[in-house]
Order: sequence, then structure tokens, then C-alpha cells
Amino acid sequence: MQSKVEPKYIFVTGGVLSSLGKGISSSSIATLLQASNFKVSILKIDPYINVDPGTMSPLEHGEVFVTADGAETDLDIGHYERFLNTSLNRQNNFTTGQVYLSVIENERAGKYLGKTIQVVPHIVDEIKARIKSVAKNYDFLVVELGGTVGDIEGMPYLEAMRQMKHELGNQRVISIHVTLIPYIKAAGEQKTKPTQHSVQELRRIGITPQIILARSEKPVSKDMKRKIALSCDVDDDSVIIAEDAPSIYACPLNFLKEGILSSIAKHFNLSPIIPNIESWDLLVKKIISPQHQITIGFVGKYLGLKESYKSLTEALIHAGAHMDTKIHIKWIDSEELNKETIDLLNDVDGILIPGGFGSRGIDGKILAISYAREKQIPFLGICLGMQLSIIEFLRNKANIKEANSIEFDKNTTQPAIYLIEDFIDRSGNAQIRTHHSPMGGTMRLGEYECKLQKDSVIYQSYGNCQTIKERHRHRYEANPKYRNILEENGMSICAEGKEGLIEAIEIKNHPFFVAVQFHPEFTSRLQNPNAIILAFAKKALEYKK
Ligand code: GLN
Repeated sequence: MQSKVEPKYIFVTGGVLSSLGKGISSSSIATLLQASNFKVSILKIDPYINVDPGTMSPLEHGEVFVTADGAETDLDIGHYERFLNTSLNRQNNFTTGQVYLSVIENERAGKYLGKTIQVVPHIVDEIKARIKSVAKNYDFLVVELGGTVGDIEGMPYLEAMRQMKHELGNQRVISIHVTLIPYIKAAGEQKTKPTQHSVQELRRIGITPQIILARSEKPVSKDMKRKIALSCDVDDDSVIIAEDAPSIYACPLNFLKEGILSSIAKHFNLSPIIPNIESWDLLVKKIISPQHQITIGFVGKYLGLKESYKSLTEALIHAGAHMDTKIHIKWIDSEELNKETIDLLNDVDGILIPGGFGSRGIDGKILAISYAREKQIPFLGICLGMQLSIIEFLRNKANIKEANSIEFDKNTTQPAIYLIEDFIDRSGNAQIRTHHSPMGGTMRLGEYECKLQKDSVIYQSYGNCQTIKERHRHRYEANPKYRNILEENGMSICAEGKEGLIEAIEIKNHPFFVAVQFHPEFTSRLQNPNAIILAFAKKALEYKK
């Protein structure tokens, strides 16, 4: 451990436009510091009013990531965990909605002693307190502020950052601004003006960035870097060019080459920071130029925004890196899959059904499951994918044609997937879940323990582990009433949670047909791929050969 001083804060803001990859940039900086033996944590601030993204449409907001302690968070938290190979918790992401909610609750409880409650100081103080509490016991806290500088919503956060710098000084706070250097085709030139303007906007608020992290499609010349440094008033070597990378996991390596750690060390007056990043480098090489290739048929319905499946597509990249294999995804829209189009699946090496909500596209998914089962193609079903595997099996193998989930038909006579009305949640509280429960906060969320059946495929995949912990996000459960019928017909219940909840199934006479109620993708990391996803990908590679 290089230091045992008070936490230092690395604020990452974004300028010019959104989608510049602030999340990946923040993760990369944190990864480099962690690889240099510092204790690092990371926080994402979302300036929207929703209390959490749990009720937002995946098509609008991308994936909802679930932490071990059951928080529904922004998908950047997923990136943080995947890069840092660590589990974060609900503290590592907060929204404007949460900040206001606590201030208003405090006001109602009379905690402000009759004062007028205002953005400054009350909201800003709440923000600072939240940031500081996450930093406790760490050398560095990277704080990523969502949105773009200049957004109305972001103002209280920038004010909080400004105040923290004022209170703690340069020795404890650094500001990194992520911008874009666009290439204007018609002029054949790269432009620095948007970066200058964005920095001016930050300065107007009282924040002067020390490092400019400039995203660019093309290489940026030394002269151009000097020009940015001069106009933005940062050191020449504190302009870090983040050129488009072949893989997000190459970003820490690129930042390192650009000298970001030297700038950070110089600012904080630390001895040179040297990360141990060899094993990371090796994995990145395997992502960029792998030996083998496979194709997985991904039958989903939120294909309009692939970000909705972020953790899962990343998990496939992690598995691929550890198998020296490029995993191509063949995206298949479940609403377009029917008897006429089923041939879409005839060139894939494995079939994957991800989680999902609602009845749209269900028939296509069930058809894909039949196809995988009958044609003996490696298959992995996740959450809704497991629920549909049970329904498919009951309908087509056990001849219970009416088998259904009450999510799709409230009055079904064969509720193979149902609601358990009194569910005990992670904290030991009874939750009542009915059709009339509110949409937010009525799901089984977060990490739950589950016991694996000895000698099952899933047991072997998890390295002969008897008990595993995986994360959940669903409202419905498999109905144990159908257990005997399933088993008599060759489907085994190979994992169970507390109180006999069905956590995974597999089919006996099949090379690999596994479906799980949990979301294995949430625990997959580049350095530590998820066991069942890796096992599935390995089977697909075997199948191809
Ligand atoms: N819609 C299903 C449920 O709520 C599955 C959810 C999911 O796949 N995440 O139980």
C-alpha cells in the first residue's frame, strides 16, 4: 500500500456531448490505480429525478444493473464491477431523486430546526455527505458525474465538487474532464473548439480541470495536444488522448501509455505510480486477436438498444477472453422468429435466451428453446429464459399444452410460473407480491444463496461447488407443483434456493441444456468470468468442432 492518508477524490465530468464513454474512462482510471496497489472505490451520480432506474424502460435507459445488496443501479456500476473485479453496493450509485428524497424526509422529520430548505446549502451538503461516506477507508474515490457540463440538472453536483475542492484543497481533489475532438471531414481537420468551450463552461462554475481526457476517432498530433493544453490551461502532458479502442478493456492500457498516472501522481505529489497490468494485457490480447471463433444465437426482444443486454454481452467477451475465442453474437428478434424463419438458428453454435419482461416475443423464444432441445444445440436460458424453458418442456414434452406463466395469462389453469405471494426478502422482511403490488420494489432483487445438486452440469460448471451466490431480478418463480412431472420427463431441478425456490434446471439427454433463474451475467468480470456462462461457451466451441 503506497499511502494510508485520507481519501483523494478524482472527479470525472463530461463535456461537449453524452456517450463519450465516461463510465469506461472512470473505470479505466480506477483499474490503473487499483493495479498499483491503492484501495480504490468508484461512485456514479445520476442527475435524473427517478429514485432508481428500476422502473425505466430498458429501451430508454439500457440495462438495469443489480448489485449484490439488491440495488437497481445504472449500467455503469456494471462496468465498474467488471473492471475492478469487485462487488459494489447501493451506495456506489445515487440519483437526484434519492438526494431530494432524503432531504425532504429530513425536513419532514424536523431535522433542519425550522430552517428554509434550499439547494445551497441543504441539497449540496447532502451530496457532499454521500460522496464522502463512499470514500471512507479508500485511498482514492473516483466520482463520475452523469450528464454533460452545462445541463441544468448537473449544477448542484458541480457546486458540491467545487466546494469539496475548496474545503480539501488540491492535495485531495483532482478534476478530469472528458471531451471530444471531432474530425470534420469536409475540412479534413480535427477541432479543439468544443473542448475549449466546455472547459470555459466548467470554469464559469468555478472548476478548473487538471486533466483533459480527449476522445477522438483518429490519432491526435503533438501540436494539437499542446494547443488544447494551452487553451484549457492544463500541463502539456495532462492532455490524455483516448482514441477509439478495439475493446473497452484496452482503455486502461491506452490511458497508461498516454501518461495519465504520471499526471495524477504529479498533481497529488506522489512518487511514480506503476501498475501491475500484465495479466490484464494478456486478456486484452486474446480479445483483440483470438484463435477461435463461435457464434451464439441471442434471441431477445430489446434489440433496438443493445445496451439493454450490456452485462450479458460483456460476460460473453469475458468468457471468450479466457477461451481465446471470439464470440460472435447473432441477434435474433424473438418477435420475428417463427416456423418460417427458424432457419435463422441453423448456423449458430449455441442458443441463449436472456431475461425479459412482458409477453411480447414469447412465442419466438419458446420456438428457439424447442429447437435447441430437439437439435441438441448447447443452450443457456437466463431468468425469463428458464421460466420459458419450463413452459416449453411442459407443453411439448409432458403434453401439458396449457402450461404458462401468470405473467402472460393471469387466469391460466396451468401456472407453471407463478407468484409466491409472501416472499421473505434478503433483509428478512416479508414482501407481499400480487398483481396489484406497485411496480417498483416488488421483485426478488440481489444476491441469494443457492444449493447445487451434486454431479449436475451446473455443479461441475461451478467447479464442484455446492453453494453459490448469484443475483436476481424477477417477480415470478417456477411453481414447485410441477416438479415431479418435469423430473419424470427428464428435466432435473439442479439448484434450489431457500424454501425450495427453483433456481436452475437442466435436461438429462442433451449435451448442454441449462437454464437459471438468476442472472449470472451480473457477476462476470474480465479477470473472473462467470462459471455457467463460461461452461456454456466452452460447450458451444466443442459443438462447433
Ligand atoms: N419477467 C420475469 C419475472 O418477472 C423474468 C424477469 C427476468 O428475466 N429478469 O419473473
